[in-house]
Amino acid sequence: MIARVQPLTRTRAVRGPFDYRLRADQTEIGVGSLLRIPFGGRRTLGVVVELAQRSDVAPERLAEPDGVLDTSLPAELVALAGWMAREYCSTPARALGLLLAPGATAGARAKRALVAELTPAGGDALRESSRLSERQRATLARLERQGPTVAAELGTPALRRLESRGLVSLTSRIQPRRPARHAVGSTSATAPELTEDQKRVLAPVLEALAAAGADPASQSTGEGQAPDGRRFLLHGVTGSGKTEVYLQAVAATLAAGRSAIVLVPEIVLTPQALGRFEARFGEVVAVLHSSLSQGQRYDEWRRLAAGAAKVCVGPRSAVFAPLADIGLIVVDEEHESSYKHEGDPRYDARHVAEHRAQAHGAVLLLGSATPRPESVLATTRLRLPSRVDHRPMPPVEVLDMRTQHHPLHPETRMALADLRRSAGKAIVLLNRRGWSNFLSCRACGHVWSCPNCEVALVLHRGGSFLACHHCGHREAVPGRCGVCASVSVARHGAGTERIEHELREALGETGFPIFRLDADSTALHQRAGTLARFAAARSGVLVGTQMVAKGHDFPDVSLGVVVDADQTLRFPDFRAEERTFALVTQLAGRAGRGDRGGRVLVQTLAPDARSIVFASHHDSDGFIADELGHRRALNYPPFSSLIRIVCSAHEEPEARAAATALHAQIAPPAATVLGPAPLFRLRGRARSQLVIKAGDRPAAIAAVGEAVDRIAPRVARRGVNVSVDVDPQ
Ligand code: ADP
Ligand code: ZN
Ligand code: ZN
Repeated sequence: MIARVQPLTRTRAVRGPFDYRLRADQTEIGVGSLLRIPFGGRRTLGVVVELAQRSDVAPERLAEPDGVLDTSLPAELVALAGWMAREYCSTPARALGLLLAPGATAGARAKRALVAELTPAGGDALRESSRLSERQRATLARLERQGPTVAAELGTPALRRLESRGLVSLTSRIQPRRPARHAVGSTSATAPELTEDQKRVLAPVLEALAAAGADPASQSTGEGQAPDGRRFLLHGVTGSGKTEVYLQAVAATLAAGRSAIVLVPEIVLTPQALGRFEARFGEVVAVLHSSLSQGQRYDEWRRLAAGAAKVCVGPRSAVFAPLADIGLIVVDEEHESSYKHEGDPRYDARHVAEHRAQAHGAVLLLGSATPRPESVLATTRLRLPSRVDHRPMPPVEVLDMRTQHHPLHPETRMALADLRRSAGKAIVLLNRRGWSNFLSCRACGHVWSCPNCEVALVLHRGGSFLACHHCGHREAVPGRCGVCASVSVARHGAGTERIEHELREALGETGFPIFRLDADSTALHQRAGTLARFAAARSGVLVGTQMVAKGHDFPDVSLGVVVDADQTLRFPDFRAEERTFALVTQLAGRAGRGDRGGRVLVQTLAPDARSIVFASHHDSDGFIADELGHRRALNYPPFSSLIRIVCSAHEEPEARAAATALHAQIAPPAATVLGPAPLFRLRGRARSQLVIKAGDRPAAIAAVGEAVDRIAPRVARRGVNVSVDVDPQ
């Protein structure tokens, strides 16, 4: 037998698979097996992608694998990796690396424990007055009472002696390391009676679930087609009961004997969502996320692969859960950019979910208060028009900052003073970390910038250091200008640190609690704690970057403030309006959920921007229609596909030359290739970019993939790195 093996190397130049000879007794090796192999004079790991009867290479020249690891990838995921490698112009090895069990290549293994069990003879000995010491009698009695028990708890040497007399059996068993369950708050394990609106939106989903199960032939629909009756978009404001609809759709999937994947943007920020699934479905829920230990992730993965768990909840990588017979894939908060992976392959979990749903004949259920225009176009939309508690959305006031000098508008400061008097709660959002955006010399105009990246350095910690937000470079705050020696240094703009300071000023020195949440203030695992403390506080202000607009459900927030709402608009990106609309709307959805009612203030330099006007009217239908009109006119996604290629090198001419060479090689039909365009220097590397705008997506991806495969290994020798991003964010 021949195994075609894809070695797990990062380089683009190595293109497997390569043939290895299997011995007749190696029948445990199949597609997806992880092998230790000799490769190019080294030892490495590889995944079997195919078994064959014969090879084109003479048998005596074929090597044998050195060994088999005790974890393997389901064949469906091997195929998925192949698709991803093509779809994202990456390599099969890189895609396989993402899909393997967490830690598999680092030698993660199941944890075994010696388990003791009473034998029938042991039971007899306990009842008859056999020769047993007090302690032995107690041990046997305990085993009889509690069943199989980890030997270490009872004393292994003593158990060994009982085993030698045939009274106890000792076997080594796999002990899954389970992550701690999440707090569920007020939600219970039983499903509430659905509202009429929830029933109305759930009905077509249940119908599609039933139809998908009944008709396996429907699995062969082609890709990239219009709504096929199995793709839904649940469009409803925060608090409209979407999660309850997901829960009941998952329940129906399990009842039909199938499995489900639920993707959520960030577990750390939204532990309650996960807690609700755990509370409702118990042990059949497995979670996969980065704050678990590697052992826990490995074991959760194994529980899914073995079918012991049938629902996987997790962030984007959970889309690769090794589940068989998937009936439903839910993508909560489908507008979130965290579904896009930044490493190679630069996959988009929403797109992978769509592909996997198709392969399994599964129902795809996206949900959001601010769905992407592309999802609206590609799915059957189901509306949940109001909050479950029927509270109205809070009024949104747009505050024009063009004539203001203070970072907080007078209206905002007044609202904060009211908040202090009424001891209420507020969320203040500013999507920018640090104290000031940049420093400049008042005398000569010199701007302090990063030595590795062509970007300005940001002032941090009330002025104790400067930092680059791209590469992490830090330096001391300058006393004088390095160019003209002037000591007059100007600080420009405000970040979350500065706003925190301004809030303290506005609220007076009253000890009114202020909680800051951003990547500087709190490590990843502490963020949930900050959110929980704000949730538990009777009054206070939560200030931070976009993470304050997500996740936790704060019933008693009466004021929401967006500082510099058009900050996201200033990015030169066709999604700028969409992002701004989502950010303002999501924050508005967090305010006014309790008895106090609510109010949202939006400070902006662009009060007439359409995203801000639509968001202030809570008009997501209007925004989507308008945005689709613009996208159509400019031929942007979803009316075309974008592919971005970035060539980076130490020197600018090298990067540009590689981009130019690629440009000459790429001739996709019905597409335009824009560039090469220079990008700012990043982490010490000059960059040059091509953007392909394509009508025929598969043809463009194929053309780019071929050109990159041809050119990348050649330019790599000159230190040029080529990265491809299909559907860039
Ligand atoms: P969303 O996911 O749209 O933000 P949720 O499903 O979290 O909405 O629902 C908002 C709140 O309403 C939650 O506290 C939830 O427990 C509650 N809820 C949802 N559906 C019902 C229902 N049918 N009956 C009673 N309470 C409900
Ligand atoms: Zn100067
Ligand atoms: Zn830098």
